[in-house]
Amino acid sequence: MPRDECSGPRLWYPLHVRNAGLDALAARMPKAELHLHLDGSVRPATALELARARGLADRRTTVRSMRRRLAAPARVADQAALLRAFDLPILLLQDGESLARVAGELIEDVAADGTRYVEVRWAPALHTGRGLSLGDGLAAVVTGTAEGAARTGVVARLIAVAMRSHDPERNVAVAEAAARFHDRGLVGFDLAGPEAAFPDAWPHRRAFAAARAAGLRITLHAGEWGGAAQVRAALALDPERIAHGAPAADDPALVAELIGRGVTLDLCPTSNVQAGLARSVAAHPIRRLVRAGVRVTLSTDDRTVSSLTLTAEYRRVLRRARLTPGELWRIDRHALDAAFADEATLAPLRAAFDRWAAGEARLAGQP
Ligand SMILES: [Zn+2]
Repeated sequence: MPRDECSGPRLWYPLHVRNAGLDALAARMPKAELHLHLDGSVRPATALELARARGLADRRTTVRSMRRRLAAPARVADQAALLRAFDLPILLLQDGESLARVAGELIEDVAADGTRYVEVRWAPALHTGRGLSLGDGLAAVVTGTAEGAARTGVVARLIAVAMRSHDPERNVAVAEAAARFHDRGLVGFDLAGPEAAFPDAWPHRRAFAAARAAGLRITLHAGEWGGAAQVRAALALDPERIAHGAPAADDPALVAELIGRGVTLDLCPTSNVQAGLARSVAAHPIRRLVRAGVRVTLSTDDRTVSSLTLTAEYRRVLRRARLTPGELWRIDRHALDAAFADEATLAPLRAAFDRWAAGEARLAGQP
């Protein structure tokens, strides 16, 4: 059991001093984020501009009111209700120019948050409503991401998302189209969407097979509805990582299986609280999973829909979920071991992160 930060001689530190120290640590830690949706992370100012150009916002709409429109409430009924927050951004992103723009801006935003490695995901088939082809949409996001990476020095990779609600054939087409961008930074394949209405991921196994055959790495969303059983069912598709998966904590046999198979859960506690899966970040299973030995990473899911930065999420798990600085550091560092980029890309990042940690007195002596 790792030493708790607030035990021992630091116990008498006033709370605000302790919290200020944790906040500063979260800010300066070099970060890696693996679970981040493009359409949930559009800048409100950009959304306003795009909405005005499309006649979807009048002159009285401000950046502030657009920010409120794009953000989901702190708590909604369930995952299906949370997904409604994506309707407007998807409506605004139906051409290559806007997709490239928001992809580049997202890389700038995560760079400003101290993120050094990011995997951004989006569902190409949701952006073809006005005639954009899958290939042109993919090319736009790939180009915008590469430009954002060049401007900031962030190492960015992409994950194409298939939709639970789409026909299996359409998802095979997404996998095949995505595979053509494998050498341009598109490295992963995911399945997401309304889990209660479309609980069974197995019908999409051919899309996963096509992605895998092309060298894409496999993840899928599970456990935003339906509890541990949904996470267990996801394992049938043999993913390296699961997006969310937090309810696995309720099933000791599943916890053991995740550990045994080395599957990483890309957790997003604030997003889970919004979707009604946990009462609060303090009540989220992240600490139980970490202390049971499950490999996890920490992400925002959606910067705009969840009104969140990764630094803020790191602070929340330190302050509210009471993870120790050493535990948070190991979560952060594990993202570079679970990442889908190739080894030649990841090795220097790992070395840079480790150099940073070696100079942090607060992490010294942490196992
Ligand atoms: Zn997600």
